Amino acid sequence: MSHRGGRHFLQIPGPTNVPDRVLRAIDRATIDHRGPEFGALGRRVLQGMQGIFRTRQPVVIFPASGTGAWEAALVNTLSPCDRILMYETGHFATLWQKMATRLGVEADFIPGDWRHGADAGAIGTRLAEDKAHRIKAVCVVHNETSTGVTSRIPLVRRAIDAAHHPALLMVDTISSLGSTDYRVDEWGVDVTVGGSQKGLMLPPGLSFNTVSEKARAAAKGAKLPRSYWDWDDMLASNKTGYFPYTPATNLLYGLDESIRMLLEEGLDNVFARHARHSEATRRAVRAWGLEILCANPAEYSNSLTAVMMPACHDERNFRQVVLERFDMSLGAGLTKLGGKVFRIGHLGDLNDLTLLGTLAGVEMGLALAGVPHSRGGVQAAMSYLTQAARAPEHPASAVAAK
Ligand SMILES: *Cc1c(COP(=O)(O)O)cnc(C)c1O
Repeated sequence: MSHRGGRHFLQIPGPTNVPDRVLRAIDRATIDHRGPEFGALGRRVLQGMQGIFRTRQPVVIFPASGTGAWEAALVNTLSPCDRILMYETGHFATLWQKMATRLGVEADFIPGDWRHGADAGAIGTRLAEDKAHRIKAVCVVHNETSTGVTSRIPLVRRAIDAAHHPALLMVDTISSLGSTDYRVDEWGVDVTVGGSQKGLMLPPGLSFNTVSEKARAAAKGAKLPRSYWDWDDMLASNKTGYFPYTPATNLLYGLDESIRMLLEEGLDNVFARHARHSEATRRAVRAWGLEILCANPAEYSNSLTAVMMPACHDERNFRQVVLERFDMSLGAGLTKLGGKVFRIGHLGDLNDLTLLGTLAGVEMGLALAGVPHSRGGVQAAMSYLTQAARAPEHPASAVAAK
């Protein structure tokens, strides 16, 4: 296709579409990051992110992709040969576990089938067996972006408490923050890992940690080498809104705007919108006669839906047809799901019609690629969204229903 009219549909589960308001906020002269104007911006975004994470504890912002904040979570709290407990929810949990191993940590991995979230019962059993309290941290990916499965963090917290185990709780919210309810303080999360390019609607380049008092205490004795990722340097500078090294100034302008947008809509409304779009997507998938990868309805993701391809049909071919013919990017199957699963991203900045355009592209692509399916997925999504528009959901009940 030589000329493409209209906009590209970026319907992968991150990076997501950056709203015009955020793009315009970024499109300004870079300022002196040691000058007075910057300090006010720094304080505003650091405080604003506490609201997004629902915490009174400090938030740290790194100029880095989400992977950087994974590393920061580990190197600030752990020492060589420490044992941690991780749960194999999918591709991203596996990458985090590999990183921990590379850093010299003994990372026990509870195996999973990539169709369910972290099993709090299994975590509780491992912790109860660990009488010597060798396990220093439990690490869970909140929304596993490779599978579209959301783990229930409050259940993990309860399992840790029921085992009377002192391990830190670390949670990756890179693809759930700004799409799914997440509460650092209420859920007793010690370290959160976040990223800019998914629910926060920013370009890639910022990552986040929330840091509990318990995590800061662990950092005092932690012996893994750290320099760039050191929380103490960050927190000391952040007190006045500054950073120990050059921050990603223009992305922080964007963050300031994206926080404003999320608060204008109201976090509960943002979550309700994503719950509605994920439900509409699942209705389309079922109407097509295709299978949703997530096997537990209580763990359906607000951010994305992973769809299983019928046997003998490769998602790569299907996605190529959709990209070439309709200028839409869909998410690939990652590692062991390669060829078998495609992912529809419905996180970040989108509305009912963006979603319907996305689903129309999928339905037409299935037909063009010769993938066996039934028609009517878009119609099923439209019916649901029409009904939802007639009786706007109460945000609280939509969230509670999840
Ligand atoms: C995207 C993602 C990552 C990786 O983030 P990068 O910004 O690519 O480093 C990690 N975990 C989850 C759950 C993700 O969705």
